[in-house]
Amino acid sequence: MKLTTAQFKTDYRKLLKTLYAEEQDELSTSEQFLVLGNLVRQYLADQWQQTTAEYNRTQRKQVYYFSIEFLPGRLLESNLLNLGILDTVRAGSKELGLDFDQLVAAEPDPGLGNGGLGRLASCFMDSLASMQIAGNGNGIRYRYGLFKQAFINGYQVELPDDWLRNGNVWEVCKESKACTVRFGGNVYLRRDEASGQLVPVYENTQDVLAVPYDTAMLGYHNHVGNTMRLWSAELPPQADDHYYTQADKAAVARITEVLYPDDSNYDGQLLRLHQEYFFSSAGVQSIIRHYRRHQQSLVDLGRQIAIHINDTHPTLVIPELMRILLDEEHLDWSVAWRITTQVMSYTNHTILQEALEKWPQDMLARELPRIYQIIAEIDRRFRVEMTPIYGAERVQRSAPFGDGQVRMAYLAVIGSHSTNGVAKLHTELLQRDVLADLYAIYPERFNNKTNGITLRRWVQLANKPLSELLDQQIGSGWRSASSELETVKAYQNDPAFLAKLAQVKLTNKQRLADYVAATLQIKIDPIALFDVQIKRLHAYKRQLLHVLGIIDLYQRIKAAPDEHYQARVHIFGAKAAPSYYYAKEIIKLINALADLVNHDPAMRDRLKIVFLPNYSVSLAEKIIPAADIGEQISTASKEASGTSNMKLMANGALALATLDGANIEIRDAVGADNLFLFGLTVDEVYAYYAQQNYRAQTLYDQSPRIRRILDALVDDTIPGIQTEGRDIYDSLLRFNDDYFVVRDLESYLAAQAQIDQAYQDQNQWQQRALENIAFAGRFSADKTVNRYAEDIWHVHHQSRPETK
Ligand SMILES: *Cc1c(COP(=O)(O)O)cnc(C)c1O
Repeated sequence: MKLTTAQFKTDYRKLLKTLYAEEQDELSTSEQFLVLGNLVRQYLADQWQQTTAEYNRTQRKQVYYFSIEFLPGRLLESNLLNLGILDTVRAGSKELGLDFDQLVAAEPDPGLGNGGLGRLASCFMDSLASMQIAGNGNGIRYRYGLFKQAFINGYQVELPDDWLRNGNVWEVCKESKACTVRFGGNVYLRRDEASGQLVPVYENTQDVLAVPYDTAMLGYHNHVGNTMRLWSAELPPQADDHYYTQADKAAVARITEVLYPDDSNYDGQLLRLHQEYFFSSAGVQSIIRHYRRHQQSLVDLGRQIAIHINDTHPTLVIPELMRILLDEEHLDWSVAWRITTQVMSYTNHTILQEALEKWPQDMLARELPRIYQIIAEIDRRFRVEMTPIYGAERVQRSAPFGDGQVRMAYLAVIGSHSTNGVAKLHTELLQRDVLADLYAIYPERFNNKTNGITLRRWVQLANKPLSELLDQQIGSGWRSASSELETVKAYQNDPAFLAKLAQVKLTNKQRLADYVAATLQIKIDPIALFDVQIKRLHAYKRQLLHVLGIIDLYQRIKAAPDEHYQARVHIFGAKAAPSYYYAKEIIKLINALADLVNHDPAMRDRLKIVFLPNYSVSLAEKIIPAADIGEQISTASKEASGTSNMKLMANGALALATLDGANIEIRDAVGADNLFLFGLTVDEVYAYYAQQNYRAQTLYDQSPRIRRILDALVDDTIPGIQTEGRDIYDSLLRFNDDYFVVRDLESYLAAQAQIDQAYQDQNQWQQRALENIAFAGRFSADKTVNRYAEDIWHVHHQSRPETK
């Protein structure tokens, strides 16, 4: 859009007066943010309204992306960037005497997700709009986001994230578009006298009103404003003869009160099931209602609408759509089923057994009786159709019902036309292992879609020094066509450019050092190598391996204090699920080790450990541009894709990585010389599983170095971890190290030694960083969503140079 600084200043002053009727300097930072946020909402309104109107007028095929998590990050700067007025507003703010960066930081960062899953959903929202795809988000408006993490005495404590406290400037409540979602009660089918059709009769249900809150998702410089719709649970309007109590109200509000603080453990809570059906049902109801208002025939539904199931949590959209088509639209089963499978597609995000959702059949029958009947019929028909072809055993292993449970991943594959994994290796493992039986039945449904990230947020906004350097060197075309980043390779042997690249990194490291000094009172030297691991705390991600590597370095410095060591700062960001005891013990270990190391004069500036609390999108934006090394060290086969690996690469960090998830594709893009690989391969891990011949204890017995490192957990080297140190030590030796930490330790240490060596040659290091930046365009979410659009959703998108 077009905007001058003069116009902006006038608009700002006017809105400030309307909203607060006060002088500018009476406002708090947070109020100043609200003025600016509301103004930007006004600026984007045209674009948003016109896009919606255009979709209604042209009846373009719509994609609905259902996700129980979204992690959009702060929206002020990204909206300004996408509108094309970031520089104008920054300059205008300055002229008004506002501290723009402070206003940006005053926006609450919506923590409506745990990690990668939610962040992927939000990167996709940004890319859908930027690629001009008619894409809509559908999720839950949690009253409280993921807990705020603090450390007390090194232990994680969880504080409520009251993100809506000052209101949310970006959302619009659409009360008139509310839907009713039914839970519990009884249901039976009765023949309607007049029409002769079977209609379900519901008795004693608990009805919940789903109220939508819409947020605009803007495209980059293209006048598109898509919608992310989040649902909030409320009581239905009060009937004349019935009054609700506070308790009624609280019971309903509970459904959308909190985000489950767990992204990889299956949680069997009833409330979780209610959340899943709540947003699935409300979303499908509103889609069909809207479709019916604007279009004629339901038979075309499959050509007009695509519903995407982001991980299993929204799988109930399948029986819910069937319910509406059967019970309310009175279609035959076979017609309804054809439409449903045409509409639905599914992304699997994990092969961890404990994360594959299963609901007890009796629970589903009690809580969602009609939905249960429909799933039972899907199960019955699947068995009838497939048993003659594939045999009873395979069908029993792959049907929705099994062992008294409903297996949601299987239902998702059976009730959709596409199932994708999120990296090449992950998709292979789905086909070979986790979903092998369904792959045998429906091979044509399986496909890979490697994850991506939006470079607009992760480079343009997070790393302005790098963005400006790239503009100077290769022009600004990369900002809209990320494959142009590859042209920077022409400067690989240009020492002047490499020196500038090094200078950009140093600037970013200094900025992070300032932040660390201000928040943690730890002094770190930007000249040191910054080695970063930022992700949810989980045993499979192996923060422990990283910690053991630091213990080794600490011990080496202690043993030979006069040697030369590459100065290092190890930076962590990680939340542990509140009920995940082991992960919290690792947090305590990291903090205890940090305490020891950071106060030991022998370490001086050689070794520092920084564990920044409350890892979030905003914190990631601060850390990533400052990283020299990004650790992606999951046990091979466990990390489906990873996306922080892509963010770090785009910012010129080199990966220290196992051959897992998308690390493999990153290696293929940048070449094995431009990252540091170590550890077991998937085949080696699977061979250990098959032969059951892994013994961590043997490795401990054979290697003095491993022994010295592990012993530090239990011999009071690190004060304050009596319980934690022992538990972790036991997890490795007594319980035989589920994630092969001990097995990969020496290989990890060797890779770290290579890194220290390589860092000495700064010219060559910067060449490697450049190579990583150059190929980051391959992992742009714009490309990923284009592949979904073409192969899965069959929708048109704006063709851009980079998609060719
Ligand atoms: C990108 C991102 C993640 C995912 O990180 P992985 O290392 O891929 O697990 C998690 N949380 C936040 C806040 C992110 O931005």
